[in-house]
Amino acid sequence: MAGIYVHIPFCKTICNYCDFYSITGNNYKERFIQSVIREAELRADYLSGEKVETIYFGGGTPSVLKASELSLILEGLYRFFDIIELPEITVELNPDDIDLVYLKELKKAGFNRLSFGVQSWNDEVLKILGRRHNSNQSEEALVNSEKADFENISVDLIYGIPGFNYKSWEKDLEKTFRYNIKHLSAYHLTIERGTLFSRMKKAGKLNEINEEESNELYNLLIEKAKENEFIHYEISNFAKEGWFSKHNSNYWKQIPYIGLGPSAHSYDKVSRQWNISDVGKYISAIEKDRLFFRKEELDLKKRFNEYIMTSLRTIWGIDLEYVEQNFEKEVYDYLINLSRKFIDYGLMRTDGKTMQLTNTGKMISDNIISELMMVD
Ligand code: SF4
Repeated sequence: MAGIYVHIPFCKTICNYCDFYSITGNNYKERFIQSVIREAELRADYLSGEKVETIYFGGGTPSVLKASELSLILEGLYRFFDIIELPEITVELNPDDIDLVYLKELKKAGFNRLSFGVQSWNDEVLKILGRRHNSNQSEEALVNSEKADFENISVDLIYGIPGFNYKSWEKDLEKTFRYNIKHLSAYHLTIERGTLFSRMKKAGKLNEINEEESNELYNLLIEKAKENEFIHYEISNFAKEGWFSKHNSNYWKQIPYIGLGPSAHSYDKVSRQWNISDVGKYISAIEKDRLFFRKEELDLKKRFNEYIMTSLRTIWGIDLEYVEQNFEKEVYDYLINLSRKFIDYGLMRTDGKTMQLTNTGKMISDNIISELMMVD
């Protein structure tokens, strides 16, 4: 099995915290659509005939395209890849871009999973984040999704916004769980280089919240998700039983995928490659039937590090038998020895076959993962 990711590199405006690759303006839209379909054709062999189980339209903002334009790209994928009968097909949407007609068109085209960038139900927070939508539009979008017969609905939230406390986050969570959603992705705000927030931080106008506050917010998230019968299946992801994101779970399980569009990454178990993050150059290359990407071969150390980085974030954790079979004996011993102290401190647990982070461990997951990774 394999997956396809399509990066739609357009946004109406750029949010204050965002470092994903996207541009504003409509100049390239038509040529981009043709190029991404052409890239699918040029790279039809990338998945070596593996059947495609999941398709994910992300960005950028896929919903800046018309539903008919997204359908056109999807049809292109069906022409060049071997897709299973009932694939999971996700599209990321901004609440203010869509209405009932749009959603019905998506449904008709075969999209069956919606991921909404709600981010917060507090309009003041949305303004600080630089989002275009407001909470009423999020509400309308979720209600319309149900009317359009979508069952598999996911919401993205951001927490840890400076100046907004525990109570504000609690309200966001309570309101989110009132809707009939099946999946929640909740990310702590991080201040990334090149964003407006990073410039504000440098100018002393914005400070990240402290670690203690962060931990309290994360604990509240875990608690509220549990109360609402959402399973915490990845550090930032929660879902009702049977509604985990198949596409993202496959990333974490080292299943190959092809990424189409500027900045999209692809992985085929032995290498990783990524398209250039420049829509103009991407289109010019594809129009000359050329692919513009960088590639990294994955040696044993890199494969091990990727495995640790992805598996330890999930409910399934590190599969010790997998490590034994896919890496050398010294690597296996290295992992067992290093993880011992985390188990003793209650940051990881093991049943002898797998190893996972405990809830306390999840709060410092980045530190644990980087300590377990092999360095030169
Ligand atoms: S957060 Fe989403 S909508 Fe905002 S700029 Fe980034 S990709 Fe675009």
